[in-house]
Amino acid sequence: MRFYTFDNILIAFTEKQDLNQREEKNRLPLKNHLNVDTIHIPNQKHSNKVVKIEEDLTQECDGIYTDKKNTAIGVLTADCIPIVLFNSKELAVIHAGWRGLFDGIIENGFSLFKDKNVKAFIGACIRGCCYEVDKQFVNDLNISDKFYKIYNDKPYLDLVAVAISILKKLSVKDIYDIGECTKCSGKFFSYRNGDFESRILTAAVIKE
Ligand SMILES: [Zn+2]
Repeated sequence: MRFYTFDNILIAFTEKQDLNQREEKNRLPLKNHLNVDTIHIPNQKHSNKVVKIEEDLTQECDGIYTDKKNTAIGVLTADCIPIVLFNSKELAVIHAGWRGLFDGIIENGFSLFKDKNVKAFIGACIRGCCYEVDKQFVNDLNISDKFYKIYNDKPYLDLVAVAISILKKLSVKDIYDIGECTKCSGKFFSYRNGDFESRILTAAVIKE
């Protein structure tokens, strides 16, 4: 498990050794460290929807926003990008796969912030070193060649670079990226490595 503190914002995420976070019982150590009883997680469906915590969290959505203190929110991932947006009073967690990213999930999460002086945290996800896609895929989505490199005639897409370019367009200057790849680091669950069911959990909370 890893912990980061940005003034009154606590961010933590699990590693493989912390077991599959889809199972509620395995979340206990993370909850204890964040000093909360519950971590609210969206009903993730690779959508572009971010909802406020007061809304119905059983609806399909891939991000949660809150301005409540001591209320932990998180997303489950295994290669997709866990993104935390925050200022000192507001917080959002986002599950960003390629679909959500190109459909505007970061913009949708950002739009909920009252104070647009927002920082971003990017957790463990698949990186340009490992995210092999088809040529057809980059053509269909019209992805700029600055976001991928070709190895052995296959494009390797850097989704984090796409996310960072979106954040910069939104004037998010302070971006903290942990820089680790779920697939080749061996420390995290990775869908591309065959972890189809297991997930890591990235969670955050606003403290006093
Ligand atoms: Zn990698």
